[in-house]
Amino acid sequence: MSLIEDLLELNLVERQLRGLQSRVGSAETFFNAQNRQMNELLQRKEELQTRRKQRQVAVSGFETDTKAMDERLEKLRNELNTAETTKQYSAFLEEMNTLKQTRGETDELALAEMSEIESIDEDMGTLEEAITERQTVLTRAATELEERKAEIAERVTELQRERDVKAAIIPESPLSTFTQCADDFDGDAMAHIEEIDKKRREYCCSSCNVNLPFNIVVQLLGNIESLTQCENCLRILYVTPELKAETIAK
Ligand SMILES: [Zn+2]
Repeated sequence: MSLIEDLLELNLVERQLRGLQSRVGSAETFFNAQNRQMNELLQRKEELQTRRKQRQVAVSGFETDTKAMDERLEKLRNELNTAETTKQYSAFLEEMNTLKQTRGETDELALAEMSEIESIDEDMGTLEEAITERQTVLTRAATELEERKAEIAERVTELQRERDVKAAIIPESPLSTFTQCADDFDGDAMAHIEEIDKKRREYCCSSCNVNLPFNIVVQLLGNIESLTQCENCLRILYVTPELKAETIAK
């Protein structure tokens, strides 16, 4: 068999293999998208937890403050009763009033923080629901991905083995060109030459339709050892047996 025939056989296996793998590919894409969304939700949850913790620290601080203020007020009340002069009495009373006002303000601040915490808790509830829902879809996506992989696993191993056998008989340089093309064009590595007008010797690449000079056709009709790639789309060019028969018969 010629080099091109060997490559065409390899190409056939390569395409089957990629076709199978692309079926897993769509399940993989779906799973990855679900996973990404799940991670975003979990990140949002972490943010909410951090914010809640910060608010909670603030509330605790205010509680410590009001407790200290209550103790001071209690002490001042006793001192008020034992005040010996009017001046003393007024001073105690003034401090008490200032303290009461500060205490009231602190209470308000604490309440504001607590209402923020409530609103965070509400958001958290909604978020937890979204996480539960997403988890259901994610689990299903993971199962489907595993099933798809299992479905094709045996056939993929078979085809990989077949590909290795077919690749082994191809020299290194054309094989590396082929592999590059197969990767670049997702398995669509080769293109045959198409006849546009036999009389005018007009030919083109079947993949990109760019016109090809007749000398390339002549060159490919011979027993070639090196590959010719389409100058435009870079696919490996070959002549079909039909075209070969027809061109030689003319
Ligand atoms: Zn082309």
